[in-house]
Amino acid sequence: MTAGFLYRVAVPSPLRRLFDYLPPEDAGEEPLQPGCRVLVPFGQRRLVGLVVASAPVEDRAVARLRPVAAVLDDRPLMPAALFQVCLWAADYYQHPPGEALMSALPVLLRKGEPPATPAEYWQLSVHGRGLAENALARAPRQQELLGLLRQGPLAREAIRAAGIDSAILRALRDKKLIEPRTQAQEGNDKPVEPPAGSLKESPLTLYPGQQDVLDAIELHGYGAYLLQGETGSGKTEVYLQVIEKILRYGRQALVLIPEISLTPQTLGRFRRRFQCRIAVLHSGLSQRQRLEAWQAARTGKAGIVIGTRSAVFTPLSAPGAIIVDEEHDASYKQQEGFRYSARDVAVMRAHRERIPVILGSATPALETLNNADRGRYRHLRLDRRPDGTGQPRWQLVDIRHLPMTTGLSAPLIESIGEELKAGNQVLVFLNRRGYAPVLMCHDCGWTALCPRCDRRMTSHRAENRLRCHHCEYAAAIPVRCPECRSPSLQFLGQGTERGEALLSSLFPDTRVLRIDRDTTRRKDAMTDMVAEVGTGEPCILVGTQILAKGHHFPDVTLVAILDIDAGLFSSDFRATERLGQTIIQVAGRAGRGHKAGRVLLQSHHCDHPLIDRLTAEGYDSFARSLLAERALNGMPPFRNLALLRGEHGNAADAEGLLARARELAEAQHPPSTGIQYLGPLPSPLEKKAGRYRYQLSIICDSRPLLQRLLRDLCTTLEGDKLARQVRWSVDVDPIDTL
Ligand code: ADP
Ligand code: ZN
Ligand code: ZN
Repeated sequence: MTAGFLYRVAVPSPLRRLFDYLPPEDAGEEPLQPGCRVLVPFGQRRLVGLVVASAPVEDRAVARLRPVAAVLDDRPLMPAALFQVCLWAADYYQHPPGEALMSALPVLLRKGEPPATPAEYWQLSVHGRGLAENALARAPRQQELLGLLRQGPLAREAIRAAGIDSAILRALRDKKLIEPRTQAQEGNDKPVEPPAGSLKESPLTLYPGQQDVLDAIELHGYGAYLLQGETGSGKTEVYLQVIEKILRYGRQALVLIPEISLTPQTLGRFRRRFQCRIAVLHSGLSQRQRLEAWQAARTGKAGIVIGTRSAVFTPLSAPGAIIVDEEHDASYKQQEGFRYSARDVAVMRAHRERIPVILGSATPALETLNNADRGRYRHLRLDRRPDGTGQPRWQLVDIRHLPMTTGLSAPLIESIGEELKAGNQVLVFLNRRGYAPVLMCHDCGWTALCPRCDRRMTSHRAENRLRCHHCEYAAAIPVRCPECRSPSLQFLGQGTERGEALLSSLFPDTRVLRIDRDTTRRKDAMTDMVAEVGTGEPCILVGTQILAKGHHFPDVTLVAILDIDAGLFSSDFRATERLGQTIIQVAGRAGRGHKAGRVLLQSHHCDHPLIDRLTAEGYDSFARSLLAERALNGMPPFRNLALLRGEHGNAADAEGLLARARELAEAQHPPSTGIQYLGPLPSPLEKKAGRYRYQLSIICDSRPLLQRLLRDLCTTLEGDKLARQVRWSVDVDPIDTL
């Protein structure tokens, strides 16, 4: 046998390499193109893999290679540029290529289904073909259908169009005269529908600042833009008009939004504006719906694709622009498995596909600001709100020595009362769900800990449970102290559930709505609550950072921010950046209507320089000082960071593996001014769900060096015995160092 060539196939396996296969026995002359799926034997199993390349095969290699079991696609699932981006991401984030590529595909494709939903066809069965012409003369409709099918198979729609209903189809099928036939229908790569009349509503007239931004965005060719503008400054309107332009010349837009802000409100705005089909990709879809949306994007039937993180890998037949809204949002970084940043992949993708990418935010990530400073991104700004309302007014309440009512200071309670009396709405931000974060015995000092994480459990009183917010562990709230049997158990601190109870008792005539992960679990809960707030009746909203995103509450005139102090002293080097972003985002909810807004921030640390910067000078000044600090400490974005994590039921093993990893890495890449190793150290959350967690930080001046180091290290670790017993992972550009 002369195979001539072999396939390098990415197979979903934890190994960071490709696997070689011969073409199938009955293969044609032409090799499959990269990006086609094949079914391959793998150990005892058969797996769906993706052809990454073909290469000439040496005769003596032929004997030890197995052939592909079946070819699943005759053309690539994604355009070559996107396929290359996926491979780049697998390499950059040090993830096994097979697993990375597969996670870029809808689940049904990973399982080997054809990309297009099969159209339903009917044809004559063997039995039907043998039937005499007039055998069914007494059932004229059935006779008619048989006659139609004698000329060849027909699609279900064509049969319906001929006026034949399903009862007749069923009758013939039951007689075994006809049978369904499915045929995968590939969409043709026609560009998007003609642009004319593509708008349902006319666009707003841009104010001059917006027009300048729109004009600055070059639509032909690659360009990365940071669009910075506070909440309400009109960024979304700019996105809409960019999309309108690219649709007009037959291109598609990919819009990424954070998980939590994919609300009916957001979608509604796109749907009201555009005539074209909009494919929506989010975690709430069924696998079938997801595949259909993906296919609509791939074939160009959808002019706009809107989705969360993983949508960044959606193929487009005629890509025109990528928009990443709220680019600073942590949900763009996948925190397990393939740990990619959808924002950074989006920029790389835009580069490879030669299209513009727009990163929008009121509070850009320090990475993004730094990229703008270095000239890699063009920095565009929107400086005012189109509705003319001004910046909210800040009011700092120093709560040292102040008497407090379960976490609420007197000035705060008074301000809430004033606003309600004036007929306004109030938003209270408390970034912790549940009733209270600590349950303590007044007599012996015992506190309720999660047995699997060694962290305090949060009381959820409505359901009478203690819940660990780090794992799934839950238990009933005890009546007596398990240590000393005392009944004097106390709830310390407050979460949203307690805030809700307290505010309801302080303002008994006012509706209090709690908005957090617990109260919005039901599918339409959020929509219902947003609608209730939308009536404009005075009310108090109490909630976590869910409140900070995507929603517009025009009648809220006071935003109260509680309990931010922990964020100022966290061991995570990104905690202060995130705190500042959250505060600004929450504050941005105030005074979005015609009424002026104010933000009241109560803290023990009102004089903290970062709080002062943030409230007196704004986010930019705050971000500048954080950047200066990062530069001084040699942290990202000025140097490149990767974390190697190890996890095991036994702490010594977890630590041992990382110590070994450091040894291996140092042997090849000794520490120097350009390479720094830190650890292994216990993770800030040292024990989680019964496993001990350690981490080794690797910091390099040079990105290519870090890449090389990690590649070498992973290859070595894959062959290491201890590494097979300890769960380990690499996180490149981690955003969470817990
Ligand atoms: P962002 O995305 O920055 O939060 P939006 O685009 O949602 O801002 O704009 C905030 C509000 O202002 C929206 O209600 C929007 O309809 C309105 N708006 C935006 N641009 C204009 C404009 N040029 N003229 C009038 N209203 C505008
Ligand atoms: Zn006790
Ligand atoms: Zn736990």
